[in-house]
Amino acid sequence: MLSHNAIKTLATEVGFDLCGIARATRFEQNEQAYNRWLEHGYDSTLEYMRRNCDKRFDVSQLVEGAQTVVVCAVSYKSAISGGYSSDDKCKIASYACARDYHKSIKKMLLSMLKQLQASDPSVQGRAFVDSAPLFEKQYAVEAGLGWIGRQSLLITPEYGSYVLLGELVLNTEVDMYDTPLQTVGCGECHRCMDACPTGAIVSEMTINTARCISCHTIEAEPQTQLDLHGWIFGCDECQNCCPYNRRATMHRNPSFDPLFDPRTISAEQWTAMSEEEFSSQFGSTPLKRSGLERIKKNI
Ligand code: SF4
Ligand code: SF4
Repeated sequence: MLSHNAIKTLATEVGFDLCGIARATRFEQNEQAYNRWLEHGYDSTLEYMRRNCDKRFDVSQLVEGAQTVVVCAVSYKSAISGGYSSDDKCKIASYACARDYHKSIKKMLLSMLKQLQASDPSVQGRAFVDSAPLFEKQYAVEAGLGWIGRQSLLITPEYGSYVLLGELVLNTEVDMYDTPLQTVGCGECHRCMDACPTGAIVSEMTINTARCISCHTIEAEPQTQLDLHGWIFGCDECQNCCPYNRRATMHRNPSFDPLFDPRTISAEQWTAMSEEEFSSQFGSTPLKRSGLERIKKNI
């Protein structure tokens, strides 16, 4: 059996700001809500959302004999988060201005796993960073990291929603599990729903991805036209207005330092950019995911 305290200490040592530990349970209530979301067609062009639905709510299908989900979060808040003016026309979601988090977080999780296995060779597990249909937000809630806000993102009391998540799914039990937070939440606030410029938050915790700028600018080619309100990769509008994000502290882990400032790059500079320049300046960031051509189209 693993020690709850030892796992949390390891998480801090490798650079995470938060760590919570939940049992690897199945979430039937979320499964029903998710199926209703799919029935409405709110997944639009995100075809992968319909695949592996059985695995999404049953982690034992991802890791045989799964007992424990260790959910880790790291803040990425920087001066760019919430720092745009109404004149900015080439806005990029602030997480995308740093090195690609998939690699950084995977490395941190694998370091934890290696050290857990060194102390107990029977520990088996896998590290996940957006790499499997794991319902990570609900595990984060169960692990006491925060709650799901009205804009459908995880909100943590200390770092708001400016956090990136990664999970270790382990075949081993832990001597103590965390429990969901009881005393915080969105209360009467509706700022994110009011701030969404395209009406993509159709009801509490329900996003119509066909109307979401973030999906339009990054994911599969959209089938409909949408005013992107100056966003060329991602969209932070429903986060920038959140009171928890406004008072959140800046990130501490240097792996998430911004590598560039979109406020200093004009539309003309983007459209004149060559693939070579793009690769050399932005090749290690998430912008690489959709590529220069898509950014030019979004402009
Ligand atoms: S990311 Fe932008 S478009 Fe999508 S729900 Fe949030 S505010 Fe609306
Ligand atoms: S803006 Fe308000 S309603 Fe939306 S997630 Fe933040 S606290 Fe919750």
